[in-house]
Amino acid sequence: TAGGAKPRLTVLLAGPRGFCAGVDRAIKIVEEAIRRYGAPVYVRHEIVHNRFVVESLERQGAIFVEELDEVPDDAPVVFSAHGVPKSVPAEASRRKLFYLDATCPLVSKVHREAEHHFARDRHILLIGHAGHPEVVGTMGQLPPGAVTLIEDEQQAREAPVPTERPLAFITQTTLSVDDTAGIVSALKDRFPDIHAPAKEDICYATTNRQSAVKAIAPRAELMVVVGAPNSSNSVRLVEVAQRAGCPKAIMVQRGRDLDPGLADGLGVVGITAGASAPEVLVEEVLARLRERFEVTIEEVVVAEERITFKLPAGLQPA
Ligand code: SF4
Repeated sequence: TAGGAKPRLTVLLAGPRGFCAGVDRAIKIVEEAIRRYGAPVYVRHEIVHNRFVVESLERQGAIFVEELDEVPDDAPVVFSAHGVPKSVPAEASRRKLFYLDATCPLVSKVHREAEHHFARDRHILLIGHAGHPEVVGTMGQLPPGAVTLIEDEQQAREAPVPTERPLAFITQTTLSVDDTAGIVSALKDRFPDIHAPAKEDICYATTNRQSAVKAIAPRAELMVVVGAPNSSNSVRLVEVAQRAGCPKAIMVQRGRDLDPGLADGLGVVGITAGASAPEVLVEEVLARLRERFEVTIEEVVVAEERITFKLPAGLQPA
């Protein structure tokens, strides 16, 4: 540009960021189902909470619906990574639909914990956010009344909880690690005998993405989280950045949402991405910053992730 060199900007890239093993598997299930069975393949709910992913699957032949009654009798249907209440596969079986379940195995693990507690006659407290599809799915593993939702520390201290039976708690997989620790300690103060998960329910991907943000937030003057407003783990990354000392944290869905002028006068910007945001969207954000700045990237990796999940038996490559 006229006027000389662009100003310098250091970008701290959080590692890990972006896709987790459960999201990767869910997307592959839809793609493989289209390849094997032909379009259209129906998907109940956004397969993962990302418009870019949803639109690219739509171009390949996926049709997204909110409820099963929008699925015709003769088309395959995939359930999203967030999990579904038991009533959904039950209804699909009743209608003799061919369905594939893309529920993340780490969400299914929480479903099984819920059933385990219920079988031992324990009342279950689920720590999570009301209305999130994962919470709807987990509560829907058991009959109404078996699970009480606990959203915050105040509810942990005060929510009415039946106490004639033993208690157990489970959690949503994509919560704030720090908030959840506070809620759990409030529950343990109030109910010292409550059964806790053997290994915590917040998943490795959520934990690692939050740790990586904490590692870069104190050095970053602005944190850009690539993700979607309905993505629980992405929203948590914005909060974690703010609490870890970053003066400003914003969420963008993709490159064009970012006003690069926000970084004027800054030296260091942090970038991360939620578990449902593909790396190509991080690259878009970097390209947007490069329009205005001479960018130097420093990747800060706090954990290596090697975990992958197999596709369901019927979809594994021959
Ligand atoms: Fe599974 Fe965690 Fe990814 Fe959710 S964020 S799909 S629980 S690995």
